[in-house]
Amino acid sequence: MANAQEKTKPEQTEVYTPVPKVVSAKAVLTTPPSDANVLFDGKDLSKWVMTNDRDKPASWKVANGVFTVNKQGGGNIETKQSFLNYQLHIEWQVPANISGKGQGRGNSGLFLASIGKGDDGYELQILDSYQNDTYTNGQAASIYKQFVPLANPTNKPGEWNSYDIVWTAPTFNEDKSVKTPARVTVLFNGVLVQDNTILKGPTQYIGDPAYRKAHGASPIKLQSHGDPSEPLSFRNIWIREL
Ligand code: MG
Repeated sequence: MANAQEKTKPEQTEVYTPVPKVVSAKAVLTTPPSDANVLFDGKDLSKWVMTNDRDKPASWKVANGVFTVNKQGGGNIETKQSFLNYQLHIEWQVPANISGKGQGRGNSGLFLASIGKGDDGYELQILDSYQNDTYTNGQAASIYKQFVPLANPTNKPGEWNSYDIVWTAPTFNEDKSVKTPARVTVLFNGVLVQDNTILKGPTQYIGDPAYRKAHGASPIKLQSHGDPSEPLSFRNIWIREL
């Protein structure tokens, strides 16, 4: 017998206003600080594994100093190492020949803490949001299905974008209830888009988010989305633990 939860549809948690204003800004290109842990230096994915089988090396393709989602290759990847609170820099690019629309156009995502297989965790959305309308709590730099970004500085396909992130992990009581929720600040191409945002829980595609599972330090995950559009590339990823 169907209950209320099963009748809930993904569309019920999509919002279309406010629409973040479009801002022109270029990617912030960084040299990793001396104390950074470089997670991708242009050469290999030795610090990454497959999310669904952490014994397997990451299968995404490295070439010319960048790596690209492998849509035939078994799904999401995540860091070998786990992290609690951190500052992270990452650069991403949607290919110039991208096709599709809405959520089916250059969809990926950065899971700020990966707390299970598949898409379990807290997703900072990556999407081609250059003249590509979708629900605004699902566009680039949204906390997916929770918080609309404060602006839209997405560069056009074929150009690089950067995220600079400060993440504070949630903490939990002994009875596994949430003690302090997760918080995140995000600069997108140098523009403030999430300002100490307090998360409602891990990302939930259907229904309302909530903290349902206690966890500590967690890997950082990149999403191989199932849409048929051309795969994104990434470069220059570094982290500083706080
Ligand atoms: Mg995504």
